[in-house]
Amino acid sequence: MFKKLQIVLIVIVVLLTSVWGVKVKKASANKSGIIVVLDAGHGGIDAGVIASGGQKESDLNLDICYKIKTELEKSCIGVVMTRRSYGGLYGVATKGFKLRDMKKRKEIIESSNARLVVSIHINKCPFEYRKGAQVFYKIADNSSKTFANFLQKDLNALPNADKDNACLVGDYYVLNCSNIPSVLVECGFFSNKENESQLLQEEYRLSLAGVISANIAKFLLGGF
Ligand SMILES: [Zn+2]
Repeated sequence: MFKKLQIVLIVIVVLLTSVWGVKVKKASANKSGIIVVLDAGHGGIDAGVIASGGQKESDLNLDICYKIKTELEKSCIGVVMTRRSYGGLYGVATKGFKLRDMKKRKEIIESSNARLVVSIHINKCPFEYRKGAQVFYKIADNSSKTFANFLQKDLNALPNADKDNACLVGDYYVLNCSNIPSVLVECGFFSNKENESQLLQEEYRLSLAGVISANIAKFLLGGF
């Protein structure tokens, strides 16, 4: 009898500890009440652009988002990820999947309570000389433009970037789908040999995530 009671008590303590532990983790990640949406572009059957060795843009986008998330949570900024796994957000991979995927992203963004949306992508183009990160901002939105300007400047200081890259206005669904300040970051070009090799290195993706997360924190915590 006593042994049974002991087991029941241990189970209760373990349950309480784990539930309490989860709550503490959530609160510490978002102590400030300030939230950003990180949107890893593509996913599932939509791989985005492909590197010469077969690596998918979609996988690297997700990796960069998780690295940014880790950094932001150190500053107690809450992070909502539109895509949290390698899969897409379209449900079943049938006709119209891209639209369903984008609509799901819009739904997550609109219900996020976020103050900023940052969408992560990788570029490819026919001109091999094009290199470096490129930031696009929401049409006719000064907050998005200010953030994009600061972020572009810091990204241009990374190794092998194009120092002359300027942020540009972008007519993209993910930027237009809400009233929240939003930017889309093309993190570099798979069509440029040096950029491609950098993007495939863990260390470089950490540097990218460091620059992006530092700018997000500055923007959200009033540093601009
Ligand atoms: Zn993309």
